[in-house]
Amino acid sequence: MKPIIVANWKCNPTTQQEAKRLFNLVKKGVKDVKNIEVVICSPFVYLPVLKANGAQDCFWEGKGAFTGEISPKMLKDLGCKYVIIGHSERRRYFEETDEMINKKIKAALKVGLKSILCIDKVSQIREHQRSVKMNEVHRLKKGIKGIIKKDFKKIILAYEPLFAIGTGKPCSIDKAKKMRIAIKKKLNKNIPILYGGSINSQNARDYVKKAGFQGLLVGGASLNAQEFIKIVKNVAKT
Ligand code: PEP
Repeated sequence: MKPIIVANWKCNPTTQQEAKRLFNLVKKGVKDVKNIEVVICSPFVYLPVLKANGAQDCFWEGKGAFTGEISPKMLKDLGCKYVIIGHSERRRYFEETDEMINKKIKAALKVGLKSILCIDKVSQIREHQRSVKMNEVHRLKKGIKGIIKKDFKKIILAYEPLFAIGTGKPCSIDKAKKMRIAIKKKLNKNIPILYGGSINSQNARDYVKKAGFQGLLVGGASLNAQEFIKIVKNVAKT
């Protein structure tokens, strides 16, 4: 499997013009890199114009009276292949629970979207406040509960330690590697695991080549076209 590098633009950029510019620069910059799957998760509103292959969230129902929601079918119809589910910012600011996340994954699978399920130790703040101790594996198991074996090939995990997200303080390669191995062992399933948290062009390659991750989830650095292109190219180097 090719390494996957996912750009999570979050709630950026603020104009369609800037989004087009960033998208086109990245597209041009990585077009000759054949050994990496590049996924751009843009805000919903830019999907029709960019034809980006990823989204940052989806709802669990297909359609109906759910004001403001976007269904997996709508994303699929726009040409999306991937959707991030359960990002720590969704859990923290919008109080998404593992149960909601589980429903979203199942809904995404139903229409053939690949889910990028984000996990970390204490990302679910409500649970944390209730002092429920939940490690990454518990969280993961709740997220994928009831998903049948044949669908596991459509799920990708992203290990994103909370302390590393948007802080400029990435998890050490050794610690990240240990977590990857522990998750894989406990899960006992062949699911690709990405690393996310303060990735830049200097550290990106080590998470794939030394820590053994199948790819990366990149937040802040994906908003800088040149930096993101460098990340992709550095990982692509054999
Ligand atoms: C993220 O939000 O998924 C993320 C990894 O952010 P950053 O790269 O900015 O730490």
